[in-house]
Amino acid sequence: MTRKINIFDTTLRDGEQSPGASMNTEEKLVIARQLLRLNVDVIEAGFPISSPGDFESVRRIAELAGEDATVAGLTRAIEKDIDVAADALKYAKRPRIHTGIGVSPSHMRDKLRITEDQCIERAVHAVSYAKKYVSDVQFYAEDAGRSDYDFLVKVIQAVVDAGATVVNIPDTTGYSLPEEFGQRIKYLMDNVRGIENVTVSVHCHNDLGMATALAMAGVKNGATQVECTINGLGERAGNTAMEEVVMAVRMHEAELDAHTDINTREFIKASRLVSSITGMNVQANKAIVGANAFAHSSGIHQDGVLKKRDTYEIIDPADVGAGASQIVLTARSGHAALKHRLEELGYEFEGEQLDQVYEAFLNLADKKKEVYDEDLESLVNERDREESALYTLESVQISCGFPLTPTATLTLANPEGEPITVCAYGTGPVDAVYKAVNQIIRVDNDLTEFSVQSVTRGIDALGEVTVRVKAGNGEVYTGRGADGDIIVSSTKAYLNALNRLLSEKR
Ligand SMILES: [Zn+2]
Repeated sequence: MTRKINIFDTTLRDGEQSPGASMNTEEKLVIARQLLRLNVDVIEAGFPISSPGDFESVRRIAELAGEDATVAGLTRAIEKDIDVAADALKYAKRPRIHTGIGVSPSHMRDKLRITEDQCIERAVHAVSYAKKYVSDVQFYAEDAGRSDYDFLVKVIQAVVDAGATVVNIPDTTGYSLPEEFGQRIKYLMDNVRGIENVTVSVHCHNDLGMATALAMAGVKNGATQVECTINGLGERAGNTAMEEVVMAVRMHEAELDAHTDINTREFIKASRLVSSITGMNVQANKAIVGANAFAHSSGIHQDGVLKKRDTYEIIDPADVGAGASQIVLTARSGHAALKHRLEELGYEFEGEQLDQVYEAFLNLADKKKEVYDEDLESLVNERDREESALYTLESVQISCGFPLTPTATLTLANPEGEPITVCAYGTGPVDAVYKAVNQIIRVDNDLTEFSVQSVTRGIDALGEVTVRVKAGNGEVYTGRGADGDIIVSSTKAYLNALNRLLSEKR
């Protein structure tokens, strides 16, 4: 048997820290269910002390996961952080506290203003303190990628002696080169006493486009846990993408002496789910899950693949859930069929809620003969967005064309439920609507991104609009909206972004 590599997913923690990708608790639970279907070993569900929302997410995901996965909560090396994380993990069957401190010269000197000895003292104290609550304590040596080799050995030795069960060696800034990072892991394996009794983890960032390569170098040199996210979501340029590292391990199982227990057929679904919830679209040429990952356009390649798939394709698309037979629902599909399909996609509805979703589904099926999984996801997400909205769309009407001045008449219901109607004109129909929205919701914001994608193929496909707005304080908010009419999607998307901005302000 080859070495088992544990997959530690941090989509809900590091992934969420990606600008504009914030998620609410319900959205995190939907993703957590998909992570369980992928059979990940650890779910890092949040940073409990950072906000009541994070606390609640960790608590509920811990309940959801039960025995099926370890649930980790992040903390700094601070007692209060650890107290709060332990509280959030109270009902977890397999709780893990993930605590740590910066160990690079830059972090110790400029951020923490501590000496090396103080750093070790705090690290040891945090681990021993967390051990009072849970037996499974993971220590992260923040910015280990830029730390001194021998000092890193000292810190890791001290926390292993203090009872850490997992030691995480992150290249926090995405600075390292793969070969050097591998040597760093090997140096720890060779020099820390008792390291064979703990799990060595790697957590790499993609600032130089090498997150997956760094993680693989870690695995090759002794790491048995990889921290990663769906679609490589994460701070700045992102994290190691789970789908990439898992498939790389699978392709090279023998030479790496390694395997994972991931159910890879859930990758495409997971990718779509995360991008639809966060509004972070996946580039077409993204490895494993991009729209073009298995597309061959050159004649020579097509000819080869048709003769024998592995002439130009190393992965069978079916192994990652691509091109799986699409189940199509129509207006004749009943409640049970819809409920079943939604459950397969990770959404659970009962009673009145199910009736409401069914009604929305019938409306859609009337306009669009065939309803695909993507349509259902879009419909459910749209419903969630409307439920949590402060301002909701009552009606929007546009007149535009040549030589007209694009004009919008818009009615929104305010948080008290009162309708407000305004008119505005703009350089185009979307501009006119957005000006009208701004007349009603007076909040400082800059539209920084606007994109339209069709949810499925065909002329009757839903149009999904993603927008990003920058608030006065520099925070970025993502909004999404889906409808058969792209002016309506555009209006919903902008409203969604401003609603998020406003609810955070409150
Ligand atoms: Zn990170």
